[in-house]
Amino acid sequence: MEYFSTRDPDKNKISASKAIITGLAPDGGLYVPQSFPSFSDFKGRSYEEIAFEVLRLYLSDFSDEELKDYLHLAYHDRLPVRLHGNYLELYHGLTSAFKDVALQLYPHLLTASLRKNNIDKTAVVLVATSGDTGSAALAGLADVPDTKALIFYPIDGVSNFQKLQMTTQTGKNLSVYGIQSNFDEAQKQVKQVFTDEDFKAEFSDKYIFTSANSINLARLLPQIAYYFYAYSQSEINDKINFAVPTGNFGNILAGYYAAKMGLPINKLICATNTNRVLDDFFKTGTYDTNRQFYKTLSPSMDVLVSSNLERLTYDCASYELFVSDYASDEETLATIKKVYEEEKYIIDPHTAVAKCVYDKYYDQTKDETLTLIMATASPYKFPETIRTALGDVLKQAPTPLLDLDKKTVLHPGVTSDIRVTIKEVLS
Ligand SMILES: *Cc1c(COP(=O)(O)O)cnc(C)c1O
Repeated sequence: MEYFSTRDPDKNKISASKAIITGLAPDGGLYVPQSFPSFSDFKGRSYEEIAFEVLRLYLSDFSDEELKDYLHLAYHDRLPVRLHGNYLELYHGLTSAFKDVALQLYPHLLTASLRKNNIDKTAVVLVATSGDTGSAALAGLADVPDTKALIFYPIDGVSNFQKLQMTTQTGKNLSVYGIQSNFDEAQKQVKQVFTDEDFKAEFSDKYIFTSANSINLARLLPQIAYYFYAYSQSEINDKINFAVPTGNFGNILAGYYAAKMGLPINKLICATNTNRVLDDFFKTGTYDTNRQFYKTLSPSMDVLVSSNLERLTYDCASYELFVSDYASDEETLATIKKVYEEEKYIIDPHTAVAKCVYDKYYDQTKDETLTLIMATASPYKFPETIRTALGDVLKQAPTPLLDLDKKTVLHPGVTSDIRVTIKEVLS
């Protein structure tokens, strides 16, 4: 399997490992696979087996032994994925959010990709984060040889917990900076670095820049596996729906790729918060980012420029598989309450957005198709919101979130210009 950029009219192909190293294509586009392989033999298999079968179809310049080895290292004692009733919990990994699924594997794929291409440089992993990618990338990359991670987060746009998770993370190769803007501005500045050949050339004798954002194929491809796994665990033979809390469109795009590979998906329900640019896109066909930006109770979805949408629009003439809607903060709180009262189950605000949108969808359509709600973060990551909705119901937090406020803040830095900061860190 080879890959080309969504913006390359000549479709120049590169290998999977090259695409993983490069992250964003130099023309500003995103790498997409030349075709979609089919996969049907997933029933009754373990998570690692399913992930292996999916990845070997895409990562053709990795050997089977390598892939098995990396999947085992990433998941054997910390598999992020568990099915709980109709909720697909994706938050049992290193940092209690779904980004761990890909980011626990990413360091292995990245360093192997460097070796395969005989690149004898340190990989500088630049990340713009709306909260959860930053901590997951830091946890995954901490003290990984031949890598440095530089994380930029909107200083007022992440929860307290998310900030502490990032700024207290140990690891000699890690740097974290707050940026006085929102996520979209941070993402824009990071993307500019990737397309600025002069800037990159200043460092090219020692360093190669790459990205752990969901523009990177190494983020997208591992996520396909849990759609197949969830289906196989649900023991149905019919079609299935997934309700996905959506920001940068990475999670739900993996579901679209799973459908292209043959998974019988009826609907992918795209759930947004008040930053409903994607909801409007699916309803009107127009993608209009020129609008007010809201800070919501689901900060990891406070995104107006959804990078991965470019992969969908590149591929797709029709969007029949998708339906969409949004949930306000009031609805998010009410949904957390309702689920707790009816199911004795605590969901985080992102998951609540998906559940709320699914409930609206069901009321409108009476679609009886089995629907799994993607639970993308542990409720313990958003204790203030849970307290507002439910009072004091949270008990002891899971290990990754324990005693965060007692840890030392190692990364207090703030910046307004990420290029200046990159220069300082690398010189
Ligand atoms: C990142 C994130 C999302 C949004 O996922 P995308 O792939 O960006 O659409 C939703 N919920 C949580 C908890 C997240 O961390």
